[in-house]
Amino acid sequence: VRDIGQLVTNRPELGEGATGVLRHVDLVVDNGTVAWIGAAGTSPAADVMLDAAGRCVIPGFVDSHTHLVFAGDRVEEFTARMAGTRYQAGGIQSTVAATRGTPSEVLMATAAKLAREAEAQGTTTLETKSGYGLTVTDESRCLDVAGTVAEEVTFLGAHVVAPEYRGRVDDYVALVKGPMLQECAPKARWCDVFCEEGAFGPEAAREILQAARGRGLGLRVHANQLSFGQGVQLAVEMGAASADHCTHLDAADVDALAGGSTVATLLPGAEFSTRSPYPEARRLLDSGATVALATDCNPGTSYTTSMPFVIALAVREMHMTPDEALYAATAGGARALRRDELGALAPGSRGDLVVLDAPTAAHLAYRPGVDLVATVVRAGRVLFAGGARPA
Ligand SMILES: [Zn+2]
Repeated sequence: VRDIGQLVTNRPELGEGATGVLRHVDLVVDNGTVAWIGAAGTSPAADVMLDAAGRCVIPGFVDSHTHLVFAGDRVEEFTARMAGTRYQAGGIQSTVAATRGTPSEVLMATAAKLAREAEAQGTTTLETKSGYGLTVTDESRCLDVAGTVAEEVTFLGAHVVAPEYRGRVDDYVALVKGPMLQECAPKARWCDVFCEEGAFGPEAAREILQAARGRGLGLRVHANQLSFGQGVQLAVEMGAASADHCTHLDAADVDALAGGSTVATLLPGAEFSTRSPYPEARRLLDSGATVALATDCNPGTSYTTSMPFVIALAVREMHMTPDEALYAATAGGARALRRDELGALAPGSRGDLVVLDAPTAAHLAYRPGVDLVATVVRAGRVLFAGGARPA
């Protein structure tokens, strides 16, 4: 990639500021990995040349939290909510019913369309989950679908209690940590639990996470989204890679995140789409916690695949600086997935990058709603090249 006006490396030791910006450089990706960065015009010969034409190049976005395997939509629920109805976790059940009744090929087509949509907006790594099947068979086939569109696959049998287990939470927890986990664990890297009133309490969540860890899965928790609770503490205590949402945090939760290895993954698309108060990102950042940003793309509470939109929300609504938001959407996501080779552009990083049609990365928040993604490269291969734009 030649003639990069500003290169965001996300390695402060390599360049200026918190995101380690280098000016007027070329970058070489060899065999999928960043091999060389040096002054513009001095790069060694390459088989394929991409001209950044003085624009900004950033690491590809790492969207560490999505739910792309589902059928139907919930636009009527959204419309009702915008007219004043409050979001409750039970809305998930309508997507469960639709997903169970839809063949895997159709689920795969929907998920693939959303994954392409994400790529066109600069996402080079996706995590996605099951969680709308809630039977052994349906969770298993949802994970098969997830594996066709995402690098990182998460088992979320504990999304909500399956409708046929209403009033029998203990029996459903036994199913999840028993036969469902046995069938699903080989198809996933991670296990996630929605720890929330109306979903799973901390004791049930702990049992499921312990069983998953016993089967070799890494841990993630949907925590403290709709109310204060034990989810964040549980995630940190169990060494989960990420506690996701973190919308209602007390001082002990913030301290736990600051002192542990668990990333606080914020999903402001959910607060936007449910018209709810945003997480206190400033409090987390100022405490020293590692923050990630992700879309939470799902049909109920955040039907967006756009990381640039999430960055704009993080800056405008959560008082993150443009640098902090970009870092959280790239390096933060990589930390939340424990993938050290992602989320940065330095020698040894995977060659995942986005050429922005802008001179600096701050334009992602400064120009909300405008498509600034010109070219997307994953592991050195062009995934997406946008149409011609007016000069
Ligand atoms: Zn989620």
